[in-house]
Amino acid sequence: MHVKETLPNKCRKKKYAPETYTAKTDPKYPDCNHNSKRFKCSALTVEEVHQFHQLFYKVPDKLVQDNFILKYVSACPIQRVRNPDSTRPRTLSAAYYVKTSNKVVVPVCRSAFLKILNITKHRVEGVLRRFFEKGDMSAENRGGDHRSHLKQAIRDNIKKFIKKFPILEKHYCRGHSFLPPDRVFALIEKKIRKLDTIIHPEVYYDIFENYGTLKKLGVDWHVQDWKQAAKANLKSPAALHFKINSCKRFVFTISKEENVLVKGEPHYNSDVNQSRGICKRGKKISQIRPQNVELNSVIVNPKKLKNIDELLTKHFGAEWKEESEELYLEYYKGLLETLQEGDRVENDKQEEVLEDQCSYHSDAEGV
Ligand SMILES: [Zn+2]
Repeated sequence: MHVKETLPNKCRKKKYAPETYTAKTDPKYPDCNHNSKRFKCSALTVEEVHQFHQLFYKVPDKLVQDNFILKYVSACPIQRVRNPDSTRPRTLSAAYYVKTSNKVVVPVCRSAFLKILNITKHRVEGVLRRFFEKGDMSAENRGGDHRSHLKQAIRDNIKKFIKKFPILEKHYCRGHSFLPPDRVFALIEKKIRKLDTIIHPEVYYDIFENYGTLKKLGVDWHVQDWKQAAKANLKSPAALHFKINSCKRFVFTISKEENVLVKGEPHYNSDVNQSRGICKRGKKISQIRPQNVELNSVIVNPKKLKNIDELLTKHFGAEWKEESEELYLEYYKGLLETLQEGDRVENDKQEEVLEDQCSYHSDAEGV
C-alpha cells in the first residue's frame, strides 16, 4: 500500500524541539548598575532575578514564553523614525519590567531584561513586531504553530495505522483461479466444444455425469422467483439510507426482532454509517417466500421461437416438424405450437416485456 506524502519538506515549518525553550544556563545578574527612576536594575536581589528567570522557563513552550515576554514588555510605536535609511529601522519603543517577590514590577533596561531571561534581543523584537503587525498574541509560527504540528501528528498516526494492515496477496484479489471446480468446467467445456450441434438436454446430462453428480432441473432442484418475493418485502436500493454505489462494504445484522439490518460503508477500514432495516415498513424477512417457477411456464419471446424454427429447418430440412418423433424434436415442436396466430404478427411492445423471461428460459433449457 502506498501512502502519499502530502506535505513536502520545504513547505513544512522548521521544527523546534521543546529543549530550545528550556533554561540552559543560570540567569546573569545585570551588571549595568542602573538605579534611576527609569531603570531600577541594581535594585533587584539575586533571588528575585532567579525567580523571574524560573517563572519564564517554567513552561518550555515558545508560545507561552512569547506571551510572557509581551506581558513584561510594554511597547508603543515610535512617532519619529531616527534612522530611516537603516535596513530595519526601529519603529517600536519598549519598556521592560521584572516581577519581584512582593508582586511588584520593577522597570529595567533592555540589557538587564535579556540577561535575566537569557534570551536574545531578536526574539523580543520578533515577538513585539508580530504583536504590533498582526495585532494578536504570538500568532506565529516557528515551532509555536501547534495546529499544523497537531495535524502532522495525526497524519503520522494514520500512516502508522494503515501500515499495520497486512497487504492482500495478489491471487486472493484475482478471484477463482484456484477454485477446484474451475478445472471441472474447463474439462466439460472441452468436451462440449467438440460437438458442433447439441439439440437435446440429454447430451449435456451425459457429459456432466462424467465429471460430477447430476442434479436435474425440475426434478432434483427448482428455480424460485426470488426477484418477485424480494420486491414485495425489501426496500429498493434507492430507498436505502445510504448511497449504494459509493459503498465498499455492506454489513448485515440480524436484529432481536428477527429482522435483518443493513448498512453500507464507504471505506474499507472505518465504520461511519448506521444499520437500519432492510425490509419495507411493516414487512419481515421471514415473509420472503419465493414461489417455484414451473417448468415451461415462462412464455418465450415469439421472435426467439421463430429463430429456433429457422435453425432447425436449416439443420434438418423444412419437414422437421413432420419427422419430429424420429428426430427426437418433439420438445421443440411443442414449443413452437405455443406460438399463437396473434403472436406471429410483430408486436414490439410485447417483445420488450418478454425479453427478460425469454433469455432466462432458453438458458435453463440449454437451447
Ligand atoms: Zn540596567
